[in-house]
Amino acid sequence: MNMTQKRALLEPKSIKEMYPVSASGKQAKELNDKQIQDVMYGRSDKLILVIGPCSADHEDPVIDYISRLRPVQDKVADKIVIIPRIYTNKPRTTGAGYKGMLHQPDPDARPDILKGLIAIRKLHMRALNETGFSCADEMLYPENHNYLSDLLSYVAVGARSVEDQQHRLTASGLDIPAGMKNPTSGDLSVMMNSIRAAQGGHTFIYRNWEVESKGNPMAHAILRGFVDSYGKSHPNYHYEDLLRLYEMFQDAPDIKNPSVIVDCNHSNSGKQFNEQIRIAKEVLHSMRHNDHLRPMIKGLMIESYIEDGACVQGEFTYGKSITDPCLGWEKTERLIYELADLL
Ligand code: PEP
Ligand code: MN
Repeated sequence: MNMTQKRALLEPKSIKEMYPVSASGKQAKELNDKQIQDVMYGRSDKLILVIGPCSADHEDPVIDYISRLRPVQDKVADKIVIIPRIYTNKPRTTGAGYKGMLHQPDPDARPDILKGLIAIRKLHMRALNETGFSCADEMLYPENHNYLSDLLSYVAVGARSVEDQQHRLTASGLDIPAGMKNPTSGDLSVMMNSIRAAQGGHTFIYRNWEVESKGNPMAHAILRGFVDSYGKSHPNYHYEDLLRLYEMFQDAPDIKNPSVIVDCNHSNSGKQFNEQIRIAKEVLHSMRHNDHLRPMIKGLMIESYIEDGACVQGEFTYGKSITDPCLGWEKTERLIYELADLL
């Protein structure tokens, strides 16, 4: 094989023992999970907001950002359930570039995965201990989920992974919501089959074990827009798109808790990050306009950080995204209050 074994990594169990969750952290996650579950099972009509930077690049600005969400969450608690994004793994379109904190705990240094495993656990743990939020991450590498399984309240299976068997089977073994994104091509049947696969029980290989999953009834859709064969972005958050998804769920009675979260950035905004404000409000308008859509739309995903936009190559600005452009803090705070008023 054309690769070398550099070193054996610590098992999830060892890293969990080195950095255990506190009793209060455990309790906070249980409470968060219960609230989120109530929304996913339709027992609560609160709106889930999966919100935060495209990538968790440095610990301090990410914790700073999530700490700012805390008082906002407390003010809108009767309408909105916030799940901050701490995305520690980044899929790259060509494979090149920053792969996230797991690979590069220092974005400017060479990859160091042992350091990265510890860095991502410490970051999610700091968020839980200091703000009471158990967060969302992308499940880019299913085998790594166990390193964070006691800290996460939500995972997304990304647009480039959603057709992959190991992602689907691993999602079927989780007890937190797994958002299955539409693939970059926009084929919604791929997304629907992915939800179906994740909701079913399976026997498969996971970290060298034969395992059996029970199926995840909280596996759901995420609409993120799509790219056509000429590389042009197209949205799929409009009223007609949501109605079409509703009809697809109607034709799929085997899918439990038919649910969608609308990703307001990526191909839905064409990465015009300011458009997320308009898109989020339009989705809420669609929800209000149609009684069928209201229970299906469980939430929104928004890419947001301290500073507006994204760093240009070689730039480092505290709290400014080094991957996709994000909505800055002032606009984010205003948007969350506006969304709460519209609900
Ligand atoms: C993301 O959420 O930052 C992301 C990479 O999403 P997608 O898989 O939709 O491109
Ligand atoms: Mn992104």
